[in-house]
Amino acid sequence: MACKAGSKDEKEIPQTIIEKCVKLNGEVTTHSYVKGKFLGKGGFARVYELLCSETNEVYACKYIPKEKISKCRARQKLMSEIKIHRSLSHMNIVGFHHFFEDEDFIYIILELCQNHSLSDVLRRRKRLIEIEAQSYLQSLSNALLYLHSHRIIHRDIKLANILLTDKMEVKLGDFGLAAKLEYDGERKRTICGTPNYIAPEILDGKNGHSYECDIWSFGVLMYTMLVGKPPFETNDVKTTYRRIKMTLYNFPDNVEISKEAKSLISSILVFDYNQRPSLEEIITHDFFTKNAIPKILPTSLLAIPPTSA
Ligand code: ADP
Repeated sequence: MACKAGSKDEKEIPQTIIEKCVKLNGEVTTHSYVKGKFLGKGGFARVYELLCSETNEVYACKYIPKEKISKCRARQKLMSEIKIHRSLSHMNIVGFHHFFEDEDFIYIILELCQNHSLSDVLRRRKRLIEIEAQSYLQSLSNALLYLHSHRIIHRDIKLANILLTDKMEVKLGDFGLAAKLEYDGERKRTICGTPNYIAPEILDGKNGHSYECDIWSFGVLMYTMLVGKPPFETNDVKTTYRRIKMTLYNFPDNVEISKEAKSLISSILVFDYNQRPSLEEIITHDFFTKNAIPKILPTSLLAIPPTSA
């Protein structure tokens, strides 16, 4: 949802921020930042470009109004997001710089992803051709391999959370629903996710969920990129959930999808999470090995389909 320029909401956000840092020896240093262009809006946060006046570096800043996290649980969730995100360092994960607060806001300073999200790309392009999907998904699998090896489940893999830098590097963002497991066999119980992407074991709730729910969402994402709409999408959430639990979807006849892509998607979108392929199996599947995959795609593909499409 876009935030209207000049709306009451936007005026509350300060044009400049002064960050005070007190060193251990008592010395106080200040950094000043200037708000730039609006980038997006999430559950609690509004995100703007932010220029650091001293270094001229431009970041993305998540402004979280404190009134929105006045409830203990909301604050805990935000602290968990910060704790997990700041512990991560990977080329395919949005870089976390630092965070600070004043009376009104919590500010989270992130690596800027100027080319927005894959959901914006798909909105303009309708659907992607296979080599683009391969490239984006390969970067996403690298991010997931890293997260899972650190016992972190993202739990909100979707187009809107996959961002692109000005150099077209792929960066996974938004750790608002991420969970760190205490041990590998642990199963989480909280029902969370985005309706079209949510895994059946999360809806079912009986045995909890773990890393396999990210694999499921990876399959939903792959289908969405290639077909142009999510596999279980309907007009109401209840019907979507029913379809997810029955794994009721099909490949439309009017869209050309390779047998390798169909085979990978079909192997991922299965109800029994133990039967889904691991990330290692996914990246060695024929879909990813049948041709050379560009690591970086040209910016022209953000809006214009490739001529071979
Ligand atoms: P929330 O945690 O409140 O859901 P998000 O992290 O999803 O907020 O951010 C909201 C929107 O802001 C995103 O959909 C995206 O459009 C934009 N955004 C978030 N992080 C960045 C970033 N690092 N660079 C550019 N845009 C961003």
